[in-house]
Amino acid sequence: MRGLMQDWPLLIPSLIEHAARYHGDEEIVSRSVEGPIHRCTYRDVSLRAKRLANALQGLGARPGDRIATLAWNGYRHLELYFAVPGIGAVCHTVNPRLFDEQIVFIINHAGDRYLFLDLSFVPLVERIAPKLASVEGYVIMTDRDHMPESALANLLCYEELIGGHNADHEWPKLDERDAAGLCYTSGTTGDPKGALYSHRAILLHTFFQCSTYGLGISNRDTAMPVVPMFHANSWGIPHVATMCGARQIYPGPKVDGASLYELIEAERVTFAAGVPTVWLGLLEFLKQSGNRFTTLERALIGGSATPRSMIETLEAGYGVEVTHAWGMTEMTPVGTTGILKKKHLGLPDEARRDKKLHQGRAVYGVELKIVDEEGNELARDGKAAGRLLVRGPWIVSAYYNSDENERFSRDGWFDTGDVATLDEDGYMTITDRSKDVIKSGGEWISSIFLENTAMGHPGVAEAGAIAVPHPKWGERPLLVVVRAKGSKVGAQEILDYMRDKVAKWQLPDEVVFVDEIPHTATGKISKKTLRERFAEGGRACARGRT
Ligand code: ADP
Repeated sequence: MRGLMQDWPLLIPSLIEHAARYHGDEEIVSRSVEGPIHRCTYRDVSLRAKRLANALQGLGARPGDRIATLAWNGYRHLELYFAVPGIGAVCHTVNPRLFDEQIVFIINHAGDRYLFLDLSFVPLVERIAPKLASVEGYVIMTDRDHMPESALANLLCYEELIGGHNADHEWPKLDERDAAGLCYTSGTTGDPKGALYSHRAILLHTFFQCSTYGLGISNRDTAMPVVPMFHANSWGIPHVATMCGARQIYPGPKVDGASLYELIEAERVTFAAGVPTVWLGLLEFLKQSGNRFTTLERALIGGSATPRSMIETLEAGYGVEVTHAWGMTEMTPVGTTGILKKKHLGLPDEARRDKKLHQGRAVYGVELKIVDEEGNELARDGKAAGRLLVRGPWIVSAYYNSDENERFSRDGWFDTGDVATLDEDGYMTITDRSKDVIKSGGEWISSIFLENTAMGHPGVAEAGAIAVPHPKWGERPLLVVVRAKGSKVGAQEILDYMRDKVAKWQLPDEVVFVDEIPHTATGKISKKTLRERFAEGGRACARGRT
């Protein structure tokens, strides 16, 4: 027998319609690419998204068409987030930090018909435009006064485009399983692969994220997503903040510590989210300037492992509560969040922070399991480490337009490529990406654990651990370190500091110092570049090199 409830599809425009009606005056504040701070409201975004929807249809955009963006976090990008899927098209957010060839590959693979770009990316798009086979026109996200001289064909100005249309638009009743968004993984191995989100997946993910076990934000918060809107939907924050009517602050192109701090204080931000490198920049700025946060209450950190020292500094030093989360582009993207359980609340600070070092806890909606090389499920005892598999309604079932199927099992599990442990409460710890594990004498050494431990030393600003070939052990760990400003710490001192924190056989064989550690387009330590630089050509370790 079927239930007798109304069958309304879960569609993205319903988010902005709700916010416009019930939080119409709530502000969206953006640091614009043109320079000044821009202020508008949910009501404005809703009306402008409708004008944009009419404009897109005027350009001939049809359901299923891919419309690309190359843009920072800002209000126009937010309008595209609603208008493009609202007419049944697919909002394809392209990561401008990728190499030109990867961007060309991604846009051609997606078959994007229009490309909306911020002013910052005009030179980039001029470079690659001759290679973009499917793009019919370019829309620069600015007004007439700021339009640049450019030879790009079919060049349009965003404000003129939407200015030519009214806000009479009835969002069509689409199928909730229709595609709404497209985001490519950064393709550190092989070609980038597209995760094609449906309206349903994004809405279910948004409901979960709005709960206390998700981001736990509400209309009382001022939320600042620093994680880019071109990186896995900015972890869903634009949708989540809209669902709950939180005030939103978009940092635009300026994501250095000083600029972020200025915006956090000026706009009285209570919740901010970003990858560890963003928080490193902020903390470095606070240390140098002696400033403190006066309104920030909560920090969401994910995308890479959050070091213990960062949790400690934010919580004990600045009174900001940290939530560590894990996810992937392929998971819309959040899979686990580290909200503590009741039984952990009374623990001493040290023990509570131990819990926060985990990448979070399984939440309703995402099933997790760990398996060995033969696919046998491993114990959830917090010790056994294996390949992490996931399934659920906001996890990819296939890559867009791709034959690659080795990560998808017949019974619906997706292989994350991560190696993890799980405990009986569902707390998950990523020990590594499977390709970054250091395999020494038949045992596995977690590169993340070595990095986190080294970063506990006050003289270490950032650390990356990689495997270096070794004639006897197969591989041995090498630690690449960026010293904290003003520090003169040496290799031996770091190894001595780590000695009672990691097993003897896991201690790095060598520590090398660099001025900067390379990062990927999504803000992770680029192990590939470190390996090319330090581990290739049969290089052997020499303990303690400085
Ligand atoms: P990319 O395009 O770089 O793959 P993703 O954000 O999709 O970007 O990367 C997902 C991967 O990032 C995960 O599989 C995991 O290895 C890593 N990751 C994400 N969050 C964390 C975290 N909190 N701790 C450790 N690793 C993380």
